Amino acid sequence: MVNESVTIIGGGPVGLTVAEILSHNDISVQVFEKNDAPSKEWRASTFHAGTLELLEETGVTEELLPKGIQADKVQYRDRQNGLYAEFDFNLLKDETKYPFRLQCPQSTYVQTLYNRLKDKPNVDIHFQSEFKGMEQTENEVIVTLETPKGTKKFRSSYLLGADGASSKVRKALNMKFEGYTLEERFLLVGTPVPFDHYLSDISYVNYIADPEEFLFILKVPEAWRLLYPISSDTSEEEALKEENIQKSLQKALKTDDTFPIVEKMIYRVHQRVAESFYNHRTVLLGDAAHVNSPMGGLGLNNGIHDAVDLSKRLVRLLKEGSNDREEELKTYNNVRKKVAIDYIRQISERNTKVMKEKDEIRRLELQQEVTEEANNPEKAKKWLLRSAMIASVREQGIGKIPETAEKTQN
Ligand SMILES: Cc1cc2nc3c(=O)[nH]c(=O)nc-3n(C[C@H](O)[C@H](O)[C@H](O)COP(=O)(O)OP(=O)(O)OC[C@H]3O[C@@H](n4cnc5c(N)ncnc54)[C@H](O)[C@@H]3O)c2cc1C
Repeated sequence: MVNESVTIIGGGPVGLTVAEILSHNDISVQVFEKNDAPSKEWRASTFHAGTLELLEETGVTEELLPKGIQADKVQYRDRQNGLYAEFDFNLLKDETKYPFRLQCPQSTYVQTLYNRLKDKPNVDIHFQSEFKGMEQTENEVIVTLETPKGTKKFRSSYLLGADGASSKVRKALNMKFEGYTLEERFLLVGTPVPFDHYLSDISYVNYIADPEEFLFILKVPEAWRLLYPISSDTSEEEALKEENIQKSLQKALKTDDTFPIVEKMIYRVHQRVAESFYNHRTVLLGDAAHVNSPMGGLGLNNGIHDAVDLSKRLVRLLKEGSNDREEELKTYNNVRKKVAIDYIRQISERNTKVMKEKDEIRRLELQQEVTEEANNPEKAKKWLLRSAMIASVREQGIGKIPETAEKTQN
């Protein structure tokens, strides 16, 4: 008999989201995570209105809201000329219960989900269990894992690859990861010292343009975070030196003060989308399926939207008797790939371009476009609906029934 449970590779934020929704819908899940505990890395720090709306059903939104701070404005600044545009989320107050960005580290979200899942009878989370390979038959998927007790095989009816940007599940399927990598590396630093003491009218989320060293400044409950590019002739060791980090903070905040550093990490930025998000009974979601620039705070949010979309399909397939597997997964692939390319990539590329444009005339033109958009309530609202990931849900749907099934039902 086929085991009608779902195997999830990766106990990161997206893997645990899909585990939460499936278990909430009485589907048994087993999660395999190669590390020995939930990740404590802060990484993402924004939850958009569109995501908070989707997480309402399971009660996760209610639990997350008091753990974050609400950013009701996003500012666009120029390092020389100061503030040139401000978008106010209050324009969305008739559109959503959440007219703000919830600023909260990814690690808080992961821990919240882990606490909810760990004692559920239909959820098994296995740490120190690394995905090594897989095979698919007509009715099931068999995965091979390296565990502290040796090599093990697990069988289930679906395999979900939520194992991040370097996904071994994606590689096992021989899927191309198409796109490009930005030439510069980024340094992210965090300090508990309040930046608003130095830049008086700063908001909780700020994109600051500069031809040499653009900045992204944002706040989470624990700290202010500053993200900036490091030049190609600077080694990672050099960039991470305390004195160099202090110099960057002092330059950004126009001060001689020194700052305690609670977070520092260097990373590369990629814009990539998997060739296909599924093969037979195996589905990719989150960073395993798409990665993008963090300018816009969209990567994790998009992974959560994948998780909600896919869960609705698996509920129909495993609980409601649908046998439309190929159409369901094809629709998942079409919709989620379109959102990754036409929404997420476009928004994050635009935010990156407006910050890093080196040509002065072009930079000022781009800034003028953003100013005009922010000052026109209709256009500003449209931009906010897109960047809050409400537009993609309204226009493309979430977990919508495949067109062929709709026709049969009618
Ligand atoms: C500095 C930074 C800032 C960011 N800011 C934002 C933001 O503000 N908003 C936003 O939406 N996004 C942001 N992102 C992106 C966000 O962090 C990612 O999109 C998110 O982590 C993706 O979640 P995931 O669960 O798909 O993958 P991951 O978080 O990478 O989790 C994958 C999990 O799978 C496990 N794993 C990997 N391989 C295996 C294996 N073979 N077997 C078993 N387990 C395995 C890993 O250990 C990990 O726990 C940011 C990213 C960075 C780096």
